[in-house]
Amino acid sequence: MGSATAFGQAASVTDKRTTTEKGRGRQWQLLCEQARRVYPPICWICHREIDLTLAATDRMSWTLDHLDPVATHGTQVPPIERTRPAHRAHNSSRKAGPPPQHRPSRLW
Ligand SMILES: [Zn+2]
Repeated sequence: MGSATAFGQAASVTDKRTTTEKGRGRQWQLLCEQARRVYPPICWICHREIDLTLAATDRMSWTLDHLDPVATHGTQVPPIERTRPAHRAHNSSRKAGPPPQHRPSRLW
């Protein structure tokens, strides 16, 4: 396990995050790092695999989506069990409406 030392170095090398993600702050960033390790890289919206090698700016890259709409739960960082991996293009967190309904998937 690489632990905390990776975070300081990463900033100067791969600082490709959007301004939106930067705005959520370090707490969200840490949550993303953790979620990326514990969740399988499967988009919870379209149920397809997410390519972890894609650049963060790619529309099919890995992002962390939260299940609770910001409108009702505010912008504070949610607990990890209220988040799921999603393709950047499918991440619903910046939309007002509910996520698209597909047939039920297996429970995590
Ligand atoms: Zn997807």
